[in-house]
Amino acid sequence: MESDKSPIYQPLELPLLSEKKVHVVVKRLDLMHPGMQGNKYYKLRYNIQEAKKSRHTQVLTFGGAYSNHIHATAMACAEAGIQSIGIIRGEVDDPQNSTLSDAREQGMRLYPLSRSDYREKQSERVLAQLRRVFGNFYLIPEGGTNAFAIRGASEILSHEDASMQVIALPVGTGGTLAGIAASALPHQQVLGFSALKGDFIRKEVQQLLEAHHINPPKPVEIQTDFHFGGYAKFTPELIDFIKHMQVQANLPLDPIYTGKLFFGLLELIRKDYFPKGIKILALHTGGLQGIRGFNQRFGLDL
Ligand SMILES: *Cc1c(COP(=O)(O)O)cnc(C)c1O
Repeated sequence: MESDKSPIYQPLELPLLSEKKVHVVVKRLDLMHPGMQGNKYYKLRYNIQEAKKSRHTQVLTFGGAYSNHIHATAMACAEAGIQSIGIIRGEVDDPQNSTLSDAREQGMRLYPLSRSDYREKQSERVLAQLRRVFGNFYLIPEGGTNAFAIRGASEILSHEDASMQVIALPVGTGGTLAGIAASALPHQQVLGFSALKGDFIRKEVQQLLEAHHINPPKPVEIQTDFHFGGYAKFTPELIDFIKHMQVQANLPLDPIYTGKLFFGLLELIRKDYFPKGIKILALHTGGLQGIRGFNQRFGLDL
């Protein structure tokens, strides 16, 4: 799972930013790897390495039918020459689902789990059932967050980013944010934008940081007002915004994570949340593969 590419930086150019004298540079993690877009590339790197080191021949993980994590795990395992198994919430047979057909094409074995079993997927009962079916496997949790993932995510920031004062990124499980918090410099504010509805995420991230002994130099901040109804929910305003950003800023965004990040970030800038002259690094964490499924499910044209 090597990438010889250096990350691409895209300065964001919008009238609002010149007016407010705020600098936003996008770190395009979505361009790091052709199949494994964005943060998942970093989150999977040491997991795959560990799976091989511990002599596992297969990796098993969980996800929804349009999951970026499932998609990336299939790619990463194929590249590393290790078998992958995707346990999918609900159905796996929709021929229109490009996330799952991509995963299958990479050799991932897909296995549906009823919604009730899926809820208990990490229980001994369900895991034992999966071991009976598949034999022994290296387990990566849903969303991919564990110590290896956080270690991988702590390599996203590099010395090129040292002059940045705010690091903005979307939050799902918070694994990526934990890695960023572990590697942020003392003058850098880590600012997460939750893709999920509710304040629970602040506590969850706090627990994650504590569990992994991460003491960020400045307390991590999480915005919870830009979820647009919840995970994978959207409004026409968000869809219009994504189209607008593609045309005006030449920046492709996904509706689940990065669209919400940039909507929220620009909204804060509009409200003078940041001082003039501030330098913000926004992480494009990928997710563009999910647009096809989104369009298909909701009849959109992103
Ligand atoms: C998975 C994902 C996230 C969330 O990452 P976490 O580490 O779970 O917080 C953010 N953006 C994109 C595009 C993703 O696919």
